[in-house]
Amino acid sequence: MTLARPRPAQMMRPSDLLIPTPAGLWCPPADIYIDPVQPVARALITHGHSDHARAGHGAVLATRATLAIMALRYGEGFTGQRQEAVPGEAIRIGDVDFSFVPAGHVLGSAQIVVETAGLRIVVSGDYKRERDPTCAGFEPVRCDIFITEATFGLPVFRHPPAHSEVGKLLESVRVFPERTHIVGAYSLGKAQRVMALIREAGYERPLYIHGAMEKLTEFYLSEGAVLGDVRKVATVDRKAVGRKTFGGEIVICPPSAIQDLWARKFPDPVTSFASGWMRIRARARQKGVELPLIISDHADWDDLQATIRETGAGEIWVTHGEAEALVHWCGTVGLKAKPLHLVGYGDEGEADAAGEGDDAAAV
Ligand SMILES: [Zn+2]
Ligand SMILES: [Zn+2]
Repeated sequence: MTLARPRPAQMMRPSDLLIPTPAGLWCPPADIYIDPVQPVARALITHGHSDHARAGHGAVLATRATLAIMALRYGEGFTGQRQEAVPGEAIRIGDVDFSFVPAGHVLGSAQIVVETAGLRIVVSGDYKRERDPTCAGFEPVRCDIFITEATFGLPVFRHPPAHSEVGKLLESVRVFPERTHIVGAYSLGKAQRVMALIREAGYERPLYIHGAMEKLTEFYLSEGAVLGDVRKVATVDRKAVGRKTFGGEIVICPPSAIQDLWARKFPDPVTSFASGWMRIRARARQKGVELPLIISDHADWDDLQATIRETGAGEIWVTHGEAEALVHWCGTVGLKAKPLHLVGYGDEGEADAAGEGDDAAAV
């Protein structure tokens, strides 16, 4: 997208516009924080994953969908005040303009463009470049400084096309028609994306979900996601029809539930897990995953590099993930780069990481 660029004589120094602090990225001239991990007076939130979107701020500025997701997860009182950011429309706070641009990560996810006095910094939050039928696609924004995540910032992480991974799942369902396929997927974004991809592949049977993902899935449906017939596992009376009820069916649950007692209720299940981490075979084995699906909502190594180049930024700041490797790569192609060492951000694909606690508790 194109945004008009002011060119005043005096340019603000980047290190005065955004400063990493223990509470999160702070913008002193506007006195706001982006994705703060501690309660602050005024927060701008990139997306609804619980390590980026926390409750208890005085005021929150975010996209309509992100505000709705936060209210679903934390209750209507998740913040003192809320303000909706309309994609593409700048909001001035102090002398700084902020605009929200789609990040392609989950429904409502946005990059935040921070601009003042001829300096433009893009805070990308979490993002991916692969098409996702359940959210708006990432839009590169030309900028002076690009702030990127690096969850999968190592050459080993190259994600195959998600539809081919879903093809493996459907092939397994065909080969094992008696067995229940239990697919671990994060409750916000991944679960709904996997269901949409299953539908795009032509699968028409009902899809069953764990109760923890019911509210978010209903929200996706209300926002137009094409997920077909989705049923909550608990609403099906298994006693009445016997333990074979879910044989041959696909059940989606939070990653933490795969190894739970909950999963043992199904007859001879095939356990599956949709995550970028499934590229690492040892990790799949360690989690007892029989059918690993490499489906990620984060950019892989190639897409991180392609995105950095597309922004035209001369300087790259890396927030979380494999920061050192990406910073090193930037150096090899002549880009200035540094890790920000922000703390408090986990990876929502990981069962044990921040953000899964609320899934596990919500059964
Ligand atoms: Zn995220
Ligand atoms: Zn993140």
